[in-house]
Amino acid sequence: MAWSDEDMSLADLHVHSTFSDGKLSVRELVDWYGSAGVRTLGITDHWCDSVSPLGWFARALGRTLTRDSLQLYLDTLESEARRAKQRYGMTLVTGIEFTWNTLSNHRSAHIVVLSKESSELRGLNPNLGMEQLLNEAKQRELFTIAAHPLSTGRMEAQTYYLWDHRERLADQIDAWECATWDRRFEEVERSGLPIIANSDLHSKRQALAWRSSLEIGSHADVQDVFECIRAQALTPVHYELPGARYDSVAALSSTQSPLKLAPFRGPVDLPEQSLSV
Ligand SMILES: [Zn+2]
Ligand SMILES: [Zn+2]
Repeated sequence: MAWSDEDMSLADLHVHSTFSDGKLSVRELVDWYGSAGVRTLGITDHWCDSVSPLGWFARALGRTLTRDSLQLYLDTLESEARRAKQRYGMTLVTGIEFTWNTLSNHRSAHIVVLSKESSELRGLNPNLGMEQLLNEAKQRELFTIAAHPLSTGRMEAQTYYLWDHRERLADQIDAWECATWDRRFEEVERSGLPIIANSDLHSKRQALAWRSSLEIGSHADVQDVFECIRAQALTPVHYELPGARYDSVAALSSTQSPLKLAPFRGPVDLPEQSLSV
């Protein structure tokens, strides 16, 4: 089945650029996803707190947004959103992955916050702490996603705080990631909490990843995307963006074969091999 089938509206709402620790610029991401036919892309760079030692370290390495880079980030996403719409008919959603890394996995959390207008994100910052940030986001009617709430299965720090406190926090989180990259969080799938699958893409190595297909029309705006996810009118899909073997998006030719993917309907229980392309 090709991506362009009328009932497929591919979305990936958790992707990183060079504004934090991603390898591709915002422009390269827009061109890659746009030319692959993805309809909704959320760029969500990390913003680490500057209080904890690990947050401070991320800042020293230039792997996080800061108060100083925030304005340029929001301006860049705003202008790229116009280009994405004009050139590809793709909706670019502005987001931030608020990031609290500590030495304890159970005190660490990543929260993706998405906005309709990038100006709505001004005034939020990770030094508020995760619970106050969730309160603020709720008051502003922003869209919140619990990022990779269970083990990613990789040699990296894990983020269990939101899952540990899910009963108390459920009202403040719009969706919980049930898959990122090649990892599924089956406990999330079974929990009854609202789900979303995103790539958490940082580089072209993650071209093949879990993402979501939303049941929305081609003229959907950001609000429609949020409402669609809140209504859970979506299906996790595992597919590959074309052209991953090229280092530069500029190397993609216009004759590139269209994106192929293997969507599935209903419960998330097919073996992964059958979903790969
Ligand atoms: Zn994360
Ligand atoms: Zn991420």
